[in-house]
Amino acid sequence: MARLCDLRSDTVTRPTPAMRAAMAQAPLGDDVFADDPSVNALQEKVAALMGQEAALFMPSGTQSNLCAILSQCQRGDEYLVGQLAHTYRWEGGGAAVLGSVQPQPISHQADGTLALDDIVAAIKPDDAHFARTRLLALENTWSGKLLPFAYVQQATELARSHGLSRHLDGARLFNAAARQAALQGTDVYAEARAIARCFDSVSVCFSKGLGAPIGSALCGSHALIARAHRIRKMAGGGMRQAGMLAAAASYALDHHVARLADDHALALRLAQGLQGIAGLQVETPQTNIVFVDLEAAAKPKAAGLLPYLQQQGVLATGLYRLRFVTHLDLDVAAIDQVVETIQRYFQAS
Ligand SMILES: *Cc1c(COP(=O)(O)O)cnc(C)c1O
Repeated sequence: MARLCDLRSDTVTRPTPAMRAAMAQAPLGDDVFADDPSVNALQEKVAALMGQEAALFMPSGTQSNLCAILSQCQRGDEYLVGQLAHTYRWEGGGAAVLGSVQPQPISHQADGTLALDDIVAAIKPDDAHFARTRLLALENTWSGKLLPFAYVQQATELARSHGLSRHLDGARLFNAAARQAALQGTDVYAEARAIARCFDSVSVCFSKGLGAPIGSALCGSHALIARAHRIRKMAGGGMRQAGMLAAAASYALDHHVARLADDHALALRLAQGLQGIAGLQVETPQTNIVFVDLEAAAKPKAAGLLPYLQQQGVLATGLYRLRFVTHLDLDVAAIDQVVETIQRYFQAS
């Protein structure tokens, strides 16, 4: 039986033995009483890394984004957000359902950005007809794409000049930073901080490419984090001996950031391996996500690919546009196995 290659997401990783050891050794307390030393240490570490005053450990990125929006928007306010952004499309409408905060989606440009003109046009005048526009939410990386840093600076400055708060859904902020650092020959932590400092609130996930089992952090000013803390409690996110999880996140920040470049190299290797196969359109990835369009392949052939891959122990998501995500539980041999399996499928008539 071939090895299982799970490329559905970078969330599928298991904690490494060293991460488990860090978890097992973590000093613990009750974080609802704010006396879990491992949680407190993590929060200080993340805040410092992001160049923000404070941070709050969260069970998930969804809850982190929710707390960010609700701590910056009131009932009847709205936030500007990408049409396909996680904070609009993939979080059960939480800001609207739980906060009565209306999303104002904006179409993405091909590079993942929201056009500055579209942002300006979406900001409502102060008029009783309209919801009050309060917040701009960006996502970086978006769909595996790095938002150009100059754009991030312009968009967040534009929002600030219109009196809007700025939130970053940085579930994969360190993938963005790794790409930015590679392009500029700089340091990944410095790039993460440079991006984060453009925003009033920043959510980062530890459970994606960083390889921790659970957890995200929301970063921002002391005042913002105090509001978010209340909302997290209301949302059921007060955790007790959460230090075991915080220790995993802390370990990931120390040991799994520099290696994100390896995931990006694996994604590139996968894309290059697939680019030669007739019927596939493969976008060259910027980070750890590879999209493969099957439109040029015959329909029945395209529809059969995913079930075939599953039989062969290769897991991905999508239908006519497949998504493959690389992560720390994959290596060159796994990627080559995926390429060979797909080649075999398209070679067979
Ligand atoms: C995964 C993800 C989140 C949050 O995910 P959870 O599963 O709730 O931790 C938020 N934004 C983006 C872009 C994501 O990819």
